[in-house]
Amino acid sequence: LPQRLQGSAESVWNEYITLAMKYQPLNLGQGFPDFHAPQNVTKALAEVSQSPNPLLQQYTRGFGHLRLVKALSTLYSKLVGREVDPISEVLVTSGAYEALYASILGHVDEGDEVIIIEPFFDCYEPMVKMAGGIPKFIPLKPKESPSDSITSDDWVLDDNELEGLFNSKTKAIIVNSPHNPVGKVFTQVELERIAELCKKWNVLCISDEVYEWLVYDNKKHIRMCTLPGMWDRTITIGSAGKTFSLTGWKTGWAYGPKELMVNLQMVHQNCVYTCSTPIQEAIAIGFEEELSRLNSSECYFNSLPVELKAKRDFMFQFLKDAGMKPTLPEGGYFMLADWTALEHKVDLATESDKYRDYKFTKWMTKNQGLQGIPPSAFYSEGNKKLGEDFVRYCFMKKDENLAKAAEIFKKWK
Ligand code: PMP
Ligand code: GLN
Repeated sequence: LPQRLQGSAESVWNEYITLAMKYQPLNLGQGFPDFHAPQNVTKALAEVSQSPNPLLQQYTRGFGHLRLVKALSTLYSKLVGREVDPISEVLVTSGAYEALYASILGHVDEGDEVIIIEPFFDCYEPMVKMAGGIPKFIPLKPKESPSDSITSDDWVLDDNELEGLFNSKTKAIIVNSPHNPVGKVFTQVELERIAELCKKWNVLCISDEVYEWLVYDNKKHIRMCTLPGMWDRTITIGSAGKTFSLTGWKTGWAYGPKELMVNLQMVHQNCVYTCSTPIQEAIAIGFEEELSRLNSSECYFNSLPVELKAKRDFMFQFLKDAGMKPTLPEGGYFMLADWTALEHKVDLATESDKYRDYKFTKWMTKNQGLQGIPPSAFYSEGNKKLGEDFVRYCFMKKDENLAKAAEIFKKWK
């Protein structure tokens, strides 16, 4: 085994998807919608497949199909308030995963330090290690709260701890807002604090904004690259899977200044080279339609969060009713809940896992037919205990399935 792969282990996704296939639980685990993606985009793909233009079934431009990079450039130029060049400042990737991979492999050298905020989307750590980098972790911690519920805004970084992580070896920090799994939408002040440290220590910011449209309660998603002095040191990552509820289409992108993007292009050209043409064409058509109604409530980017907020509120209530202590997320489509008040109803001893949240979620899958994700998967080895009291549920599910989940908790004696 090459050195860069030593210590690699199967991800929580592969393990829990196998578990779900075996036990067929109601699946609130892996994040994906169980309802139909917007018809205009899926119809566009059907039409592209029948197009008289034969080239739509062949290789397209390696760094991104022209129609799609143009649509992305139009959209993000508006959103970030500067001209984003479609050719040199946008890269289409195989999911946000590949955009993360290209950002990390394209910048991190042997021995470079990369700051990762815990809990973190689990692939950040192995990707940094694959590049020979050294991940440095800092946890978001929930403030002590006397009430039985808190919001994702109560999960905060310690300013001094953050400052202490930056040094001359720091190459990058990965920031994910809206956040998976906490649901935190970083505030202007929190982002500025990170931005100041990036500028002080000449650090790259990899800003994972795949849930950019999913914010609730008038919270505002702020793009890191729009902060003063940050465009030149930020790579922003998005996902069609999240934007159009098409996770199976595995299409994402990165945008940023061309001096940085060229490094991602090198990783991409030597690995994936070019993404699927018909899928990029269909996503471009989807973006063109949304661009024509960006300020209307009909725009999918505006209607989806309204639909999701109701699902979030429903889940928050049934988890509370069940005796859990959920964190109300301000963004994204996941909810963390402290399950420890239910411990007496669960036989953890039947599971042999090292961490209690793994035992809890496996026991629930097998005995109550409900799957969640163990959040310790989103912590570094030394901090996994911080995740053990929690479970992560996805509320991007049909109302009837959320109702079934509520029913499972209600019936559970
Ligand atoms: N970043 C975060 C925070 C995510 O939750 C996900 C999950 N899909 C990704 C990146 C990867 O996105 P994609 O499916 O487009 O590869
Ligand atoms: N982003 C999704 C989640 O967090 C899917 C992750 C995955 O399948 N690797 O559940």
